[in-house]
Amino acid sequence: MATNLSTSTKPYIGRFAPSPTGLLHFGSLVTAVASYLDAKANQGLWLVRIEDLDPPRETPGAIAEILKTLETYQLQWDGEVWHQSQRHDIYQAQIDRFISDQKAFYCTCSRKPLIRKYGHRYPGICRGTYTKPAEPSSVRLLTNDSPIGFEDGLQGHFEQHLESELGDFIIKRKDNLYAYHIAVVMDDEAQGITDIVRGLDLLDSTPRHLYLQQLLNYRTPNYVHLPLITNQLGQKLSKQTFAAPIPNDQPSHYLWTSLYALGQQPPAELKGAPPEEILFWGTEHWQLNKIPKQSSIHEANLNL
Ligand SMILES: [Zn+2]
Repeated sequence: MATNLSTSTKPYIGRFAPSPTGLLHFGSLVTAVASYLDAKANQGLWLVRIEDLDPPRETPGAIAEILKTLETYQLQWDGEVWHQSQRHDIYQAQIDRFISDQKAFYCTCSRKPLIRKYGHRYPGICRGTYTKPAEPSSVRLLTNDSPIGFEDGLQGHFEQHLESELGDFIIKRKDNLYAYHIAVVMDDEAQGITDIVRGLDLLDSTPRHLYLQQLLNYRTPNYVHLPLITNQLGQKLSKQTFAAPIPNDQPSHYLWTSLYALGQQPPAELKGAPPEEILFWGTEHWQLNKIPKQSSIHEANLNL
C-alpha cells in the first residue's frame, strides 16, 4: 500500500519515531498517544518511523515488538512504516554535498580529550578539512552564531546560539553511523511532516534541526515538546534507567493513564473501555493547552 503523502489533501502530517534500543515504556506511550491524538484531532495523518540508526545499541526483536504494541493499543498508523536503516545512501549523499560545499568538514578529534579540555562545546579545531583523512574521522556541520529560535506549542520561545553554545556538531560519527540530527531532519522533510510532538529531552536538539532545515531550504514544522515521565529518582524513563516495557495485556489501563498524564481529564467511567473507545474520546476532547507545563511528571503520581 503506497500512500502518496506529498499530494495528500490533509494539511496535518504527524509522526511517532521510536528507536528500537528498547521496547516501548510508559514515557514512549505518552509521546505516541499525544502525537496520535494531536494528528487525529486535526484530521491529519499519523506516520510511524523506526529510527534504527545505531544497530549496536538495538534490542533484537524490538522493532516487531514496538509495532505489535502500537497495534494492540489501537494506535493505527497511516502509510508504510519507514526505517532509517534503509536510507543511508540518501544521508550520505547529503553529507557529501555539505562537504563539497564546505558546509561540513572531517574531524579526527577524540571525544574524551575534547570534553576534558573544552567541555561539550566543539571549538572548531578541524575546520577546513574537506579531504577525508586516512585516520578514522567524523563529519561535523559548520555552525555560526546567529540566534536560532522557535515558538514551541507548549514551552514557548526557545533559542540557541549554536557556535558559542555547542560548536560544530557531528552529522556522521567516527564509527560511520549517521547522526540522529541529519536523519531526523531529512526524513521529516521527505515524509512531509508538518507537526512534531515529542519529549522535552529533544528540545535542545531542535535549534540544530532548524539550522539544518535552513541550510537545506526545508520548511520548519511546528514543534510541541512534552513533559517527560520520570521515575522515583527523577530520571527520564528509558532503557538506561531500567523502565519496564508496557504490557500488551492492559492497553485500556495504560491508554487511560496516558490521557490522565497529559492533563486531558478522562472520565473515570472510561477506565475499562476498549482501547479504540478511549482513543476516540481522547481525539474528540483533545486540548493541547491542558498538557501540564512542568518539565516532568513523576510516574509515582500516575498509579501505573
Ligand atoms: Zn576535530
